[in-house]
Formats: sequence, C-alpha cells, structure tokens
Amino acid sequence: MKAKQAKVLVLGGNFAGLGAAQKIREFAGDAVDITVIDRKAYLDYIPNIPLEIFEGRDPAVTMHMDLIDALARDGIKFRQAEVLGLDLDAHEVRVRPNERPGAPEYRVGYDYLVIALGAHLAYDDIEGFAEHGYTVSDAWHANRLIEYLKNDYKGGPIAVGSDRFEQGLKGKPDWLPVALAACEGPPVEVSLSLAHWLQEHDKGSAKNITIFTPAELIAEDAGEKVVGQLLDAASSMGFGYMNKVEGIERLTETGIEFRDGRKLDAEISIVLPNWKPHAFLKGLPISDEVGFIITDMTMRNPDYPEVFACGDAAAITVPKLGAIGHQECEVVGKQIAKSVGKLSAEKADAPWQPEVVCIGDMGGGKAFYIHSNSWFGFGGDIQVLEMGRMPYAQKLLYKEMFFRNHGKIPNWGLPAAKWAAETLPL
Ligand SMILES: Cc1cc2nc3c(=O)[nH]c(=O)nc-3n(C[C@H](O)[C@H](O)[C@H](O)COP(=O)(O)OP(=O)(O)OC[C@H]3O[C@@H](n4cnc5c(N)ncnc54)[C@H](O)[C@@H]3O)c2cc1C
Repeated sequence: MKAKQAKVLVLGGNFAGLGAAQKIREFAGDAVDITVIDRKAYLDYIPNIPLEIFEGRDPAVTMHMDLIDALARDGIKFRQAEVLGLDLDAHEVRVRPNERPGAPEYRVGYDYLVIALGAHLAYDDIEGFAEHGYTVSDAWHANRLIEYLKNDYKGGPIAVGSDRFEQGLKGKPDWLPVALAACEGPPVEVSLSLAHWLQEHDKGSAKNITIFTPAELIAEDAGEKVVGQLLDAASSMGFGYMNKVEGIERLTETGIEFRDGRKLDAEISIVLPNWKPHAFLKGLPISDEVGFIITDMTMRNPDYPEVFACGDAAAITVPKLGAIGHQECEVVGKQIAKSVGKLSAEKADAPWQPEVVCIGDMGGGKAFYIHSNSWFGFGGDIQVLEMGRMPYAQKLLYKEMFFRNHGKIPNWGLPAAKWAAETLPL
C-alpha cells in the first residue's frame, strides 16, 4: 500500500512559488502531494520587462509562461483562486476561485504551507500616480510607458527612482541591514537603457534623466565599490542624481514632490514603489509588524514550523530580488524533504548566505552584471560589476533557458553564468 503523502500547499506561482514547488518535488519525491494556488495561470517574467519596453515589445506577449503545464510536468496540481486569508491553527487557507466571478469561498487544508505570494507594489499609496506616474513592473504599465515615449514625449526632464521601502523590524536577524528602497536594480537599469533609447530616437540623452533614491547610495545592497563605479559611469554620461529623498509625497503634472520638501521637475516620473505585504498577512502571529512572514534561515516560521515563506513575501528577503528568492526555494525544498524523511538533516540544514545577483539592460546590446554579498552582515567580500555584451547575452539566454526548461535552471546554469560574466571580457 502507498504511504500517505504529506499535503503541501504553495501559495503563489511566480518565481518563488514555482521554484519552491519544483524543489520540493525534486527533494521530497512522491512523499508529498503538492498544490500551487495563484490568481493567474501564468508566470510573469518580471526582470526582463524593462528590456522589452525599450525594445518596443509588449511583455504580455513575450514574458508570460504557462504555469499549469510547467507544474504538471512534475505532477504538481494547480488551482486558480484568490487567496483571502490563513487559519494557522486549523491548518487551512481561505480562497475564492476566480476563473469566473461568483464562486463561493472555500477552505483548503495543508500539512505544510509555503507562502510565496510576493508583495503588493504600493503605487496606490502614491498620490497622483494614476494621472502622472509611469512604471515598469507589469505589462499594463509597460505598454503605457511605451505609448507615451512613442507618441507624446516632448523631450522634457525624466525622473527615475524608488519610493521609500518600509521594512519590518520584528524578528529581523542581526545580519540583515535595513533597506530604504526595496529593489534598486530596476531604476538603475531603466535609467541606463532609457538614456540609450532617447539617443537612438533623437529625443535626448542621459542629461534628460535624474535618478533619485531614498537611500544614501542608490542600489547600496550592491556594495559601495560597485555603486561607486556605477555612479562614476552615470555622472560621466550626464545623469542627474538626487539621494536621501524621504519618500514621495505626491506626483504632479510638473514632477515629484518629496516628503522632505524637495521637488524634482519631470515630464515623465518613472517610479518603483514601496513593496508592501498583502493586507491579509498583517497582524498574523507569523508576520512582522508590516506583514512580511518571519522565518529563520531554514525559511521556516519559528512559531509555526510547518509554515515556510520564500521570495518577496519573506521578511529576510531584502533586497526584494528574484535571485535571493531562488536561493530560498532550494532551502524550502530541502527542509520539507527532511520533514517527510526524504533528506538527512546534514544535507537539508547546510548553511547558506544570500547573494545579490542582478543583470540589468543598458540598451544597445549591453548590460551590467552585479554579484555581491558585502552588504549583508556575514562579512562577505564579493563585489563584482561587469558591463558589456556578455551580461546582455546572459540576460537573454537565462530567460530562454528558463522558458525552455519550464522554470528549471539546471544546476550548472547559475555557476556558468557567474563564471562567464566574471571572466569573459566581451
Ligand atoms: C521591474 C523589475 C525588475 C526586476 N528585475 C530583477 C532582476 O533583474 N533580478 C532579480 O533577481 N529580481 C528582479 N526583480 C525582482 C523580482 O521580480 C522579484 O523579486 C520576484 O518577482 C519575486 O518573486 P515572488 O514569486 O516572490 O513574487 P511575485 O513575482 O510577486 O509573485 C507573487 C505571486 O503570487 C500571486 N498572488 C499574490 N497575491 C495573491 C492572492 N491574494 N491570491 C492569489 N495569488 C496571489 C501573484 O499572482 C504572483 O504570481 C525585479 C522587479 C521589478 C519590479
């Protein structure tokens, strides 16, 4: 007789949810029955949306990958529904199927729960965003920016930057610094590739663009040496730079008003917002004071050890980077395999440390590659910045490999990418 399978419920099916489900299957095999719930049935390949914008392609056409098929290849079930809330003591999740309006609310039980629901990108907290704001984090906003640049841009100043990130402090480990911006690879990438686009279309240059950040240094998690090199390159190209803005008060027809009273003139304001946890996660005994899920380095909640989190929803994922979520998925897979007796504690508990890995488009077939761990309090000394054609080729190849392998990057994929970016001068 087949042994009873443990029921694993994964909430969210983008990078962290898909990655965790695949890793759980890889390490725990048929000891587990896995279901993924997401409100949409595709994976949204967010990191390449900026590149698609400046190459004039609609990311809804190019950046969506079928999620159901990817999961079915590993015998993982998919259920399309809106997650409404968690009943941690009953081991149940409240959901409402959303394929058609009108479905009632259901409860779905679990033995192990993986919360991979990402975050709420809080554009709706920025006054004036709908009228005057632009961004690059989804296909709707990508197309809005593509159309403005193509049809309406009058050659005026452009502001690119992040609103203030509110990181939770409850349960924060000592090694994790407090970040003032959630994810600053995208504003750096957008500034560089937009400058190239302006030049190529005879509409201006880097001189049109001012980059702003709530932090002392933009992309500070990349390490001071890397940021110093980036800022030197940016100022020699003519970008303006404004740091330590207190957060955005409002967007207006003429630009951005910051909370510290400063203003930035802009015909186009391209903003990355506060990454805010989903409202229904706030106030739970597994959450920090803003609503991110507290975990230790095994990605388990200390008080509810059957509950895991990975990706942007986890409190220790700072900065909010897919690359860090990817590292966490492997940990979740191994931990659940250990719990169901499929992996030894020695293998499952192998220590790990987060690393920032980010490849950003610069336009013109070039990209920057950042690999760093110096920002975290582990005493890491990696700080690599490369710019050129090789990182660009890797950005495209990584996406191709991801789609062709239905979300699975072979074990040699990341080390090979690091090796090529850090040693091949192209
Ligand atoms: C413009 C941009 C560029 C970026 N570039 C990079 C990069 O180059 N490298 C990098 O490492 N990272 C990059 N990032 C960050 C990266 O995109 C995120 O870290 C990553 O997407 C997080 O994955 P996740 O699965 O945790 O969350 P998400 O990708 O946000 O996925 C969350 C999933 O949960 C689902 N969901 C949410 N709430 C509910 C609900 N209530 N009910 C049902 N389903 C729900 C959503 O539909 C979604 O599928 C970038 C981010 C942006 C915005």
